[in-house]
Amino acid sequence: MLVGRGLTCSRRAMARSCAGLAASKEAMDKAEEMIARTSSLFIDNKYVEAEGGHRLPVLSPADGKPFASVAHASAQDVDRAVRSSRRCFDSDGWPQLDPEARATILKRVAASLRTAEVCDALCVIESRDCGKPFAESQGDMGVCADTFDYYAEVTPHEMKAKAIALRDGDAADFAARTEIEPLGVVGCITPWNFPLMQAVLKVAPALAAGCAVILKPSPLASLTCCALGELVAAAGAPPGALNVITGGPPEALEGGGSTGQYLIDHASLDKVSFTGSGMAGQKMLEASASKLRPTCLELGGKSAFVIFEDAGEYLDAVVDWVLVGIFQCTGQVCSATSRVLIHESLESKLVERLVDAIRKIKVGHPLAQDTLMGPLVSEGQKQKVVNMIEQAEAGGGKRHSVSLELSSDLQQGYYVPPTILSSLPEGSSAWKQEIFGPVLAIRSFRTEEEAVQLANDTPYGLANAVYSVDPARRARVVSRLKSGIVWENCSQVLFPSTPFGGRQGKASGFGFEQGLAGLKEFVCEKTVVGTSRPSFSWEVYKG
Ligand code: NAD
Repeated sequence: MLVGRGLTCSRRAMARSCAGLAASKEAMDKAEEMIARTSSLFIDNKYVEAEGGHRLPVLSPADGKPFASVAHASAQDVDRAVRSSRRCFDSDGWPQLDPEARATILKRVAASLRTAEVCDALCVIESRDCGKPFAESQGDMGVCADTFDYYAEVTPHEMKAKAIALRDGDAADFAARTEIEPLGVVGCITPWNFPLMQAVLKVAPALAAGCAVILKPSPLASLTCCALGELVAAAGAPPGALNVITGGPPEALEGGGSTGQYLIDHASLDKVSFTGSGMAGQKMLEASASKLRPTCLELGGKSAFVIFEDAGEYLDAVVDWVLVGIFQCTGQVCSATSRVLIHESLESKLVERLVDAIRKIKVGHPLAQDTLMGPLVSEGQKQKVVNMIEQAEAGGGKRHSVSLELSSDLQQGYYVPPTILSSLPEGSSAWKQEIFGPVLAIRSFRTEEEAVQLANDTPYGLANAVYSVDPARRARVVSRLKSGIVWENCSQVLFPSTPFGGRQGKASGFGFEQGLAGLKEFVCEKTVVGTSRPSFSWEVYKG
């Protein structure tokens, strides 16, 4: 099962596609129907309007026009969702259900995500909502289905009690085991770049473990998450197992507040699992501090792709991996290998090949079949990226990009061309800061030592990649790179079983998604020590 925020699988799907509209008319119609029916809060397995009927407009990144709206949940709505999940967890038997029964529900969700009708409609919605090409949305849906299946397969075994070996003097009189229990009611807050997938990476393991979840997606792209609650309920999950609340930041609605802040301020959550920016991550910790509440943070990155001189022989493959590492999802990928470190002997050749390659990247409407790169998610994100490119150029960096040829109906969309920045001076913010757009920064190095030092010279610690045909050199470099994941001779490749998370002590967060480590985020371990002989005692206080 090949998955990943890298979505290599969707790239292959794109390569197979031909000109025209990516989605069928049936999928477009079904998507319209789904948006109209599902874009409300989902609480207790029912769609409900937000208190006061408040809604936020949803703008299309493709053309800047509103095409839908979502409910804006108030503090009372959030409280209602949390109370529903508490009921589900505390008194309705969800955590006590046989893990195999929960796994059956997850498998049904995976199966429904794989039906052409549901999958294609969700892909249309995802592409319209966050702007990614249809084929990338198809890749995301595959990851979502695989993730539900993966946790359905592994969780029942992982939830079994495990015997603890006792070795000390009195060991023969006692037995000990670790019981694995669902953690509780979890608030999951997610970003807009992989809207459904980021949610599923939390929701699937949490539900598999027996937790009850309140999901709060990003107001910039929440439509597919609105439909997820219904899919999980239809698969047999009880009311409150998954509640979905939508809403915006304080400025979203005059007099309104931040739905996400209401959620993290709620006293009845047992854990918060967050994916997003470092700034919001700090708010998560602040809100959790007074409650001594565990908090998992999946934050940003500025990952390096270190390419050694022996890569010259395989430059076609190298160029492809570098492009995969930065331009999917229009560069809005936390683990994007957005800094290329190339050996000085190959620099000019690689830059030339990359500049040639970006000319061939078709930028356009996310639902057009020949589109390889869509718009950014919002006007704000576009401005941020454009400013970073302009600053880099003003600071002495060399900019390589193409001029966009957009049809008149896309002129108000949030498009930025694929861009390469070379000759960046040391300390340039385009080299140091996460841009979260289709911008690749390149610098050269002379020695292995210098390459490792430059790669690690960042506050972030999410991912890195190394390309070399020499296994010994790869092993040396991998062992010295300070990040949660390192790719060898590739970029962005992930599987449901491969844990993903920032390196502790750096600014990309802590905790894991995917793999068994991702499941452990949603369980508690309980140590049980005892003797099975009721007459036995140590006789310490006897007469
Ligand atoms: P963001 O931090 O602005 O928002 C993320 C989520 O948090 C949204 O749902 C938002 O509404 C909510 N939020 C923001 N402020 C909040 C507050 N004070 N209280 C409660 N909720 C709040 O991030 P974004 O712009 O949506 O996403 C981009 C960032 O996410 C980038 O930095 C990217 O690297 C990171 N990201 C990380 C991963 C990962 O797995 N490490 C994956 C995807 C994205």
